[in-house]
Amino acid sequence: MRSYDSRKYVNWQTRMAVILRDRGCRYCGLPAAYHTGGSARGDRCWRAYDSKGQPFHFDHKRPFASGGTSGPENVVLACAKCNLSKGEAYESQQ
Ligand SMILES: [Zn+2]
Repeated sequence: MRSYDSRKYVNWQTRMAVILRDRGCRYCGLPAAYHTGGSARGDRCWRAYDSKGQPFHFDHKRPFASGGTSGPENVVLACAKCNLSKGEAYESQQ
């Protein structure tokens, strides 16, 4: 595993745009609920969850290592199940 790369960080503006655009998993269609806690301190949470409280992931369509960005054009909402199964597929290709 590589160390955490802050350039891959998906900021809250991007998370907001992706959640409001996708409204659920882009792979299986699982609907997302979301909340925006933390605004009292000026930060914006923008986290998405499924009906069981499992957090959705923000998935880079084009891997960051291959030149993908962390903007809304390259980030999609994915449920944990889809993102984890896709991650395994990506790793086996490399
Ligand atoms: Zn899914």
